[in-house]
Amino acid sequence: MIVPVLLFVSCNPINEEKYFEEGVSKLLATYRYATVNDVSYKLSFNIPEGKEAPITGVAVIDFSLTSKREPVVIDFRVPGEYLHSLTVNGKATDPSVFNGHIIIDKKVLAKSFNRIELSFRAGDLSLNRNEDFLYTLFVPDRASTAFPCFDQPDIKASFSLTLDIPSGYRAISNSPSVATDTTERRITVSFAETKPISTYLFAFAAGKFDLLEKDINGVKMEMLHRETRPGYIENNADEIFKLHYNSLKWLEKYTQIPYPFDKFGFILIPSFQYSGMEHPGSIYYRASSLLLDESPTLNERLSRASLIAHETSHIWFGDLVTMKWFDDVWLKEVFAGYMSDKIVSPDFPDVNNELRFLLSRYPAAYAVDRTRGTNPIIQDLDNMKDAGSLYGAIIYNKAPIVMRHLENLSGEEELRKGLQIWLKKYSWSNARWDDLISVLESETHVPLEEWSRMWVREAGMPILSPVVTKQQDGYFITFREDNPAGTIRHWPQTLNTMIITGTDTITGEVMPDDNKSFIRTDEEPLCIIPDISGRAYGTFLFDSVTAAYLNLHIGDIGDPFLRGVLWINMYENLVNGKIAPANFYNTIFKALESESDLQLRNYLAGRFSSVFWDFLSAPERESVAADAETMMWEKVMQTTDPAVQRTWFSLYQNTAVTENGMRNLLKTWENTSLPGGLELSEDELCTLTLTIAVKDYGNAEKIIAGQRDRITENDRLLRFDFVVPSVSSEQAVRDAFFNSLGDPANREHEPWVIEALGYLHHPMVAGRSEKYILTSLEMLEEIKSTGDIFFPGNWINTTLAGHHSAKARMTVEKFLDDHPDYPADLKLKILQAADHLFRQ
Ligand SMILES: [Zn+2]
Repeated sequence: MIVPVLLFVSCNPINEEKYFEEGVSKLLATYRYATVNDVSYKLSFNIPEGKEAPITGVAVIDFSLTSKREPVVIDFRVPGEYLHSLTVNGKATDPSVFNGHIIIDKKVLAKSFNRIELSFRAGDLSLNRNEDFLYTLFVPDRASTAFPCFDQPDIKASFSLTLDIPSGYRAISNSPSVATDTTERRITVSFAETKPISTYLFAFAAGKFDLLEKDINGVKMEMLHRETRPGYIENNADEIFKLHYNSLKWLEKYTQIPYPFDKFGFILIPSFQYSGMEHPGSIYYRASSLLLDESPTLNERLSRASLIAHETSHIWFGDLVTMKWFDDVWLKEVFAGYMSDKIVSPDFPDVNNELRFLLSRYPAAYAVDRTRGTNPIIQDLDNMKDAGSLYGAIIYNKAPIVMRHLENLSGEEELRKGLQIWLKKYSWSNARWDDLISVLESETHVPLEEWSRMWVREAGMPILSPVVTKQQDGYFITFREDNPAGTIRHWPQTLNTMIITGTDTITGEVMPDDNKSFIRTDEEPLCIIPDISGRAYGTFLFDSVTAAYLNLHIGDIGDPFLRGVLWINMYENLVNGKIAPANFYNTIFKALESESDLQLRNYLAGRFSSVFWDFLSAPERESVAADAETMMWEKVMQTTDPAVQRTWFSLYQNTAVTENGMRNLLKTWENTSLPGGLELSEDELCTLTLTIAVKDYGNAEKIIAGQRDRITENDRLLRFDFVVPSVSSEQAVRDAFFNSLGDPANREHEPWVIEALGYLHHPMVAGRSEKYILTSLEMLEEIKSTGDIFFPGNWINTTLAGHHSAKARMTVEKFLDDHPDYPADLKLKILQAADHLFRQ
């Protein structure tokens, strides 16, 4: 049988511009997937000491070709002179290099087996080189910045790696090392050929690392680390191995597939960019996420267990079965999250896991999904070079919510069976979301296509309002789905509604936008809670009676989970203008004062700060500030639990504006400790210094100089010095700082830049920083091309968050008007970040 894609390839002339364009276009990927098979790489790298001298390498790429219609394109995104030699099927060939590709003429290729040999200098971009260690990080499309390859997820290949490293170094990769050859100054390490993996999962690290090995019930594990502080390895290693072992066994049982790779290992990297990355055989972690301080909090232990379970789940969901194209990258993330919740929750019975899920997912998903810049869970991706823009709250927070809907619809056990079939069917290859939906439909006989179309492929969320109709035999409550965009859209879901009347509380299931689906009450409703299950998703607008009722009575609701659901709804009503800021403020003030659930209190603290800075007018803020500070300072004084005291102080520091409040901050800075004696860490004192300075209290220059003298660690001092100009009261200093960000070299430490932007655009000084908005927007394209995947979003969010003026809104609107052809992904990021401006 002829595969349709081959038919396409052989009948249509190829669009050359797309085929050869920079990055990997979908067209190039489709053609290569159809014509390039059985790929294997033999790679060797020569790694010098230090981080400056070039790393050189040799690659032997074997593959078979089923069509010679087009030249073969190999990705290698380095300056042209980095390619030293090219041999095709034994013949030295002059390389043709174009747009980050090596183009191999079809005349020298065979319509069967081919061998391409290249010697080259590796690009440093994704090698993360440090003085005495380096590590590769190739997700999503960066393998081709280091060595020549077919850099797309559905050309899986086996890798045979040899590393030549300085003596004293240790190395780790995806497979076990099989041979080591040591001379006086160098070590050559060869690794076994890997199972088939995608290029973004190929990885190696080398450097001065210590090795720890552990065998639990026959499962051999290895851990590399660079920790030298006394006690940290001793206190944590056993738990880290045990958590991996437990996750691994749990997943083998759940999937019915034994651990599929040849080796299990992981490496702890100081200040690693992400918290973890799931390379098979060598998972990377940020060291501080696993090596906890003595007597860690429950939350820290829970986060560590979740992270380990998340990365281990990826071995099956992502590594063994991989998305075909990066538009489905959410799929591996959502399953890793879904599995990790299931693996970890039973070990933490003291944590209200339902509330945790609610508070960690819904607000973050709504924050993007309510904006004009939102995107569907599955987004179009034309070229791998734009894959970084796909990541965001919709993937990380909305997708897990949608996955719970799917579990509800299909049944937990049926979903598990479906996943087992899907994993087995697509092992060592690639699969799409639609492949899973068709497996599930045939397993469960539940039609899922329409559900999937609305929840996964459609952007945005339903806006639901209650409709109360009075008839002779009582009151009928239904829900109407609003469609401000004018299109008729309906998101299938069931609400668990609660109606409170003067004498009764009634609950029942209601389908939105269905007149036959209603709840009847005898008396007029005093409060309509659209959904008490915490599973429904959307903007639930209150009627005025309900809003008034909840403003008075939300604190009387006994169940913390239901309080959480209602607070999330309340906030969306505030954003949508259904609750006045002053009313919301009064209600949350009382709630914050009395809330006993720790998770909920932390959530309320964030919302309190938001209504204080983003919704109250300046005169409103002034009129409430003194009372708020008194309440919070009392909490700081009364609390004995260090973690809780820190949280109260942090909120106090954030919102203090009166003379009295600022004096307390200054006193705390002088004492370096909170009332009761709890010492603040160096990081906390730096933040306090900068906060006092940006709020322009006391002698800023003097306290900044004083803080500089206290800092003991060089990295921290560098960061502090970098951020300080952003809080300066002198315009020339701030201007010079902002202008310096025009040079990519000054943006290298992205977290430093984001911290400084937060102060530069602090709501108290937003007026003086409006002039930076336009240039910040203009810089966004360049920021995307030079920065990490989360940087453009963080850059524009932090720039706009503190602004609320009409002038700021007009600047953004004019920029969008003036740039009708602006890249769509960045335009969406701007629309997300400017949502609060457009709502004014
Ligand atoms: Zn992940």
